[in-house]
This record gives sequence, C-alpha cells and structure tokens, in this order.
Amino acid sequence: MELSSQLIKGEVREDEETLEKYSRDASLFKIKPSTVVFPEDTEDIERLVAFVKGHEGLSLTVRSGGSGMTGGSLSESIVVDVRRHLNKLREIGDGYARVQPGMWYRDFEKEVAKRNLLLPSFPASKELCTVGGMVANNAGGERSLVFGKTAKYVEELKVVLDDGNEYTFGPLAKEELDEKLKLQTREGEVYRGIYNIVDENYDLLQKARPKVSKNSAGYYLWNVWDKKTFDLTQLFVGSQGTLGIITDIRFRLIRPKTNERLLIIFLRDIKPLAQIIREVLRFEPETFESYDKSTMMLALRYLPDFVKLLKANIIALGWQFLPEVIMLFTGGMPSMILLAEFTGDSEEEATAKAEQAQAALKKFGVKTRIARTDKEEHKYVTIRRESYNLLRNHITDKRTAPFIDDIVVKPDVLPEFLPRLYDILDDYKKYMVCTVAGHVGDGNFHVIPLMDLRKEESRRIIPELIEKVNRLVLEFEGSLTGEHNDGLIRTPYLEDMYGERVYKLFESTKRVFDPGNIFNPGKKVGGSIEYAMAHIAQTN
Ligand SMILES: Cc1cc2nc3c(=O)[nH]c(=O)nc-3n(C[C@H](O)[C@H](O)[C@H](O)COP(=O)(O)OP(=O)(O)OC[C@H]3O[C@@H](n4cnc5c(N)ncnc54)[C@H](O)[C@@H]3O)c2cc1C
Repeated sequence: MELSSQLIKGEVREDEETLEKYSRDASLFKIKPSTVVFPEDTEDIERLVAFVKGHEGLSLTVRSGGSGMTGGSLSESIVVDVRRHLNKLREIGDGYARVQPGMWYRDFEKEVAKRNLLLPSFPASKELCTVGGMVANNAGGERSLVFGKTAKYVEELKVVLDDGNEYTFGPLAKEELDEKLKLQTREGEVYRGIYNIVDENYDLLQKARPKVSKNSAGYYLWNVWDKKTFDLTQLFVGSQGTLGIITDIRFRLIRPKTNERLLIIFLRDIKPLAQIIREVLRFEPETFESYDKSTMMLALRYLPDFVKLLKANIIALGWQFLPEVIMLFTGGMPSMILLAEFTGDSEEEATAKAEQAQAALKKFGVKTRIARTDKEEHKYVTIRRESYNLLRNHITDKRTAPFIDDIVVKPDVLPEFLPRLYDILDDYKKYMVCTVAGHVGDGNFHVIPLMDLRKEESRRIIPELIEKVNRLVLEFEGSLTGEHNDGLIRTPYLEDMYGERVYKLFESTKRVFDPGNIFNPGKKVGGSIEYAMAHIAQTN
C-alpha cells in the first residue's frame, strides 16, 4: 500500500509548503522530509509503523511543538506531527493527569492550575512546546533546581513499538518483571533485552551516571533498574523518539506554593561565585538563575522591546532600569547577575527566606537587593527568559546558533570553569557575539552565539568550538546537555562523554527496541558531525 490518505484517517502531505515548514525546528539545521503525516489517533500511528516496517529505507520521526534546539524532530524521511490531533487532556485526578503527547504545555498548565496543580519541570520555552516533547527531551527549567526534570514526573507511558502495537509501561516490582520476562511476545523480547543490558552491566552503568544535577545526554540506562524496581518509562524519557512513539502520558503533579520573593545579586567578580551559590542554596530557593553582562547590555540597548514584553510604559520602565543605567555610567556594571526566588505559603514566609539569604551574603561584600514589587521581579526574570528572543529579533545580519547551548558542570567548579569558558569564546569574537544565561544553581548554562551562517568561515568554526567546549566540560566531569538533549548536534559526541563501553550499550539498547532503525535514525546513536554540518541552514 502507498503512504497515502487511504492508509490513515489523518492527513498525509507532500506539498512544498508543508515540507518546507517541517524542514526547520529551533536548531541550526534544515532537513526536508519526504512526507509529513498527521495521525488522528493511536491506530493511525500503529498503521504507520507497520507501513514503514514493510518499506526499506523509510523511517518515522515525531514532531510535536518543533521547539527543540538539536534537530531532533528533523528527518529526510517521514515526519509524524502528533500535535495536530493527539492533543487531548484525558483525565485530571488527585495529584496526577493523563494527557496525549501533542498538547501544548501552556494549555496543560492552565487546565491543571484550575486544581492548583503544576508540572514543575516546564522549560523556558513553555509557550512553544508540548508535554510529549518535554518527555522525549527530558525537559527541565528554572524550577528543576528543587523539583527535578520531567523524568521525575512520568508515572506511566503508552508507547507504540516497532511491531506496530501500543504497550503500557510503568514501574514494576521484581515479581511483575519476572512475568514480563516470560512473555513470548515483542514486549517480552524488549523486557529481556533491556533487563540483560542493565543487570549485567549494573556497576558500569551506575558509574556512568553523570555527576551533575541535570542531564539529558544519552539513554538513562542507570535509572531503569535499582534491583527492586524495573521501570522502562525512565528509558523512553529523553530518548527523542528513537525507541518508539509515545501516545499517552500519566504525569505526577505537585501543588505549587503561591508566594514568591526575588533576591537579586550583582557580581562584579566571579571568584566568590561557588561560595555564594552554596550560601544561597542553604535557604532553599525554588529557582536560582543567572545572566551575564552581555545579556544585561542587550536589554538596555533594546529597552523599547522590553516595554512591550513587560507591558509597561516607557517612563515607568526607564525608572525601573535606573539602577542598571547608573551602574553603566559609573563603571559598576556587574559581570554576572544572579536571581534567587524564594517561595512560601505566605508572603511573610517567602520574604523572610529572601532576607535571611541576603543577610548571609553580607560577608562577601556583594551588592544585593530584594525586589520590592511584582513588576520589579518581572523585569529581572524577563531579561533572563527573553535573552534568546532579544538576540534573535534584533541582530538581523546574524542568527542564533545553538551548538554549545546547554552545558552543565557542578556549581562548585564554576569560578574555575567560567573564566576558561570565556577564554575559549573570546578567541572566536571575530565570528560571533554571544550571551551566557542559565540555571546557576544547577551549574547549567546556555551559551547562545549569534553568527552569520551564510559564511563558510563561520560554519567552519562550529565543530572546532564544540570540541573545545566539550573537552572543557568533560574535564570538569560535566554533561554536554542538561536539558535540550542530543539530536543531530550532540549525538556524535556521546561516545566522548560516556566512553566506548557505555556507548556500545546505547547501541545495544537501540537494537533491542528498533533493530530496523525505523525510529528517528541518527539521533542518540549513529550520528555524525559531517552529516550535521552538511545540513546547517545557510540563512539568517
Ligand atoms: C527559546 C528556547 C528555550 C528553550 N529552553 C529550554 C529549557 O529551558 N529547557 C529545556 O528542556 N528545553 C528548552 N528548549 C528546548 C525545547 O523547547 C524543549 O526541550 C521542549 O520540551 C521540546 O518540546 P517540543 O514539543 O517542541 O518537542 P519537539 O521539538 O517537537 O521534539 C523534541 C524531540 O522529541 C521527540 N518527540 C516529540 N514528541 C514525541 C513523541 N510523542 N514520541 C516520541 N518522540 C517524540 C522528537 O522526535 C524530537 O526528537 C528551548 C527551546 C527554545 C527555542
């Protein structure tokens, strides 16, 4: 049978406009698919898998919000848009919700907020992403400091495997696992295959677990089996659709605290950074973010845009930025600004925590202030969140080039790590400007260069710069990606990060689920930097 509208109830598109649209995500890359399909339900997905199995060379790459920065949802073959139809909220219960993967996070957030619930691992791109993309990337964000990443909130998944059937996965006790291992079905094969990998290599895998608080790189084999519970959801999370297609998610949700108070710390010298982070963390902020001087300068330079973003009036906003303007003219511009948000069940509780943290920082002689109003708080948080868009919207002869966009090291090593990172970046000033903003409490930084990618000389430095930054991150035992995942841009470096033995276990994992390589090929295993470089979108 042809891949035509007769195969599925949903739409099948091969027109130029659709193919062009689906050839880009938020990454550096452009790859045109052969076909884009819009399955209406799980049965459609099952039919697509069966179809692709019967046609050599074809594959299925899921696309949801398309906000990924790695090229994870791009493919030369069939792209499966799950956002158009598989987007229903199925159930909200006491502390949980069941939802289809294509639901926008922003809509999900509104619905669960009606019951005073929250999925706290939302990314900075929460307006652009879906809940399925969050699971497949193991997304994290500002609240991951306290609440962790998406993996922690996935209780159950339904997934269509390569035999074209949907299965339900969740945590299993040893006796339940034994029953699965006996099954003479595709499900049984998958359980046996992964059980053998994680049990035989238990010590190696536990040692391979990244020593940082956030990681989206590789397959998280170390999280599947703790010798008591066996949980394959923890392998699907963050696997970027390379093991199967997620069709239904049950999330655990939290009850958020309602009062917040922001402490702002202006650092002229980053030498005491590690001690300051340690001191602030003692008071348990719910978020602990940072941005650098370049980001601050950008906000000042494009003040009218901030007026729009903050829905403020220019005079009121001018007053709000007065402290920064004074710093600028008195040469007192900080090199880094840290934002620690404290929460509580009452305003007094949140304020008390912020004041205690502020008092504890006195001994470092750093300038601090507690935001007095919600507006003031909003100003700082918006600069942090919108730095990427400011870059994108204003510098028109260059474009954002995420390729060292998500590095993580332990916060303790930041005073040594950051100057060395800036030294590397400084050597490439001729080709790019960049901002460094991130989740300082987790040691997770988003370095976003702006480059003219139409120029061959700019493109040429990308692999060179990636390798230098990766070497530095790995020297400090960090991870190449805390949240954004691997995709086309980082898969080629997974072996450098985990070593040959662990990388071979990633390859075995892929073979257990997907021996025919029909699910999102070239991501997680089998990627090459040459392929990635050959597919950079050469536009600004
Ligand atoms: C400005 C900006 C800021 C960002 N900030 C953050 C951040 O703070 N934290 C963070 O984690 N990420 C961030 N991202 C990256 C990205 O937005 C998130 O990871 C997001 O969760 C991806 O969701 P999506 O719906 O757009 O997924 P997509 O981009 O559509 O897909 C992501 C990957 O998941 C796979 N996939 C999607 N749905 C399924 C499914 N149902 N079954 C199997 N595989 C599937 C895709 O094939 C792809 O490999 C940011 C991106 C931008 C542009």
